[in-house]
Amino acid sequence: MNNEHMVETLAMYGYIKSERIKEAFLKVDRANFVPEEYRDKAYFDDPLPIGHAQTISAPSMVAIMLELLELFEGAKVLEIGTGSGYNACLMACAGAEVYTIERIPALRDMAKKNMEKCPCRSKVRILLGDGSGGYEAEAPYDRIIVTCGAPDVPSPLIEQLKIGGIMVIPIGGTFFQELYVIKKERNGLKKRVWGDVAFVPMVGKYGHRWA
Ligand code: SAM
Repeated sequence: MNNEHMVETLAMYGYIKSERIKEAFLKVDRANFVPEEYRDKAYFDDPLPIGHAQTISAPSMVAIMLELLELFEGAKVLEIGTGSGYNACLMACAGAEVYTIERIPALRDMAKKNMEKCPCRSKVRILLGDGSGGYEAEAPYDRIIVTCGAPDVPSPLIEQLKIGGIMVIPIGGTFFQELYVIKKERNGLKKRVWGDVAFVPMVGKYGHRWA
């Protein structure tokens, strides 16, 4: 198995649908974002530990979220939960200008290092801090993607999304959530649930207080 085989399998099963996302997955080798001891599992469709009780999501989950996000060339995207940096690099290679926030300093450092091998790294800015309230300084965003489970949709994230923008966010408990796709329209929010998911909890001001 190699990255190309993984991508072809994700496309064959219908997780990857668009050429834009497929090209991004081909450019970014998942093995560069997985800790040394799990390299032999880098192309399995499984989440893997990245330290500090956090995970890199399963590639099929990453593909589902990126397709739901409907990225376009030059889209300004905010990601909450940098983790390994894999998803941020994929979005950059899909043409986006990415701002990604991580709250754990060691993971921020690891993501920076992992990204050294990403051909699109110049389009990613990694920030450190509590991203549960978004990142006001660069708002508004065309897209917001949250890769940790929030108890509810944080109101600042809605404010920081452009009219016509899309947010993909897991909402629910600390173990299981529903994946929401939220479109901000001039006259309000259009929400739909994609299905059940399992993400590590969002902590911080708008996150789970008990996590
Ligand atoms: N997108 C990541 C990747 O490609 O590897 C996977 C993210 S991991 C499933 C969730 C991440 O969200 C963890 O690294 C965790 O530390 C981070 N996180 C949780 N709450 C956060 C918050 N309030 N602000 C920023 N990051 C947060």
